[in-house]
Amino acid sequence: MTGAERHTGYGGDDGLADGLDRLWTPHRMTYISGEDRPEGGYEKPAGCPFCLAPGLPAEESLVVARGEHVYAVLNLYPYNPGHLLVCPYRHVADYTDLDEPETVELAAFTKAAMRVIRHVSSAHGFNLGMNQGGVAGAGIAAHLHQHVVPRWGGDANFMPVIGRTKVLPQLLADTRELLAKAWAAAA
Ligand SMILES: [Zn+2]
Repeated sequence: MTGAERHTGYGGDDGLADGLDRLWTPHRMTYISGEDRPEGGYEKPAGCPFCLAPGLPAEESLVVARGEHVYAVLNLYPYNPGHLLVCPYRHVADYTDLDEPETVELAAFTKAAMRVIRHVSSAHGFNLGMNQGGVAGAGIAAHLHQHVVPRWGGDANFMPVIGRTKVLPQLLADTRELLAKAWAAAA
């Protein structure tokens, strides 16, 4: 409960202000303060969250599963609980930029994500897809990401399916742990 303690102790310029910022927007802080960590021989532009995520601890990055060429991560702005993104490690924008191994593993991870989400939350259906380019609605257009959005009957009645839903970071961390365990068990 360091977050709460920091909150109580806030009031000086001794670093606690940063603690308060982190309490409210820890994931944003991670992305802002995270350093580029070049590895693997391909370019990772500074500030790209999908390039940074695999290099961060799982609790911060919300990475659920790692493959050889792609990884699955919880969306920070989920349309529904359990909304996952499958991303190549490589910083490429267009689906046609994926090489064959990336294409194959992205498909396999999309299937695995569906199975895991169904297992843990009994989703009734899914929206799958990629927004290609800013005009098509991609929030981070420069780095390809496949959405896996679980759907339940009637969810549109009480949740904004299009648009960004604010979710408490702790809830996201719990969801990540649940999905990561189920994913590891199914592998
Ligand atoms: Zn990137």
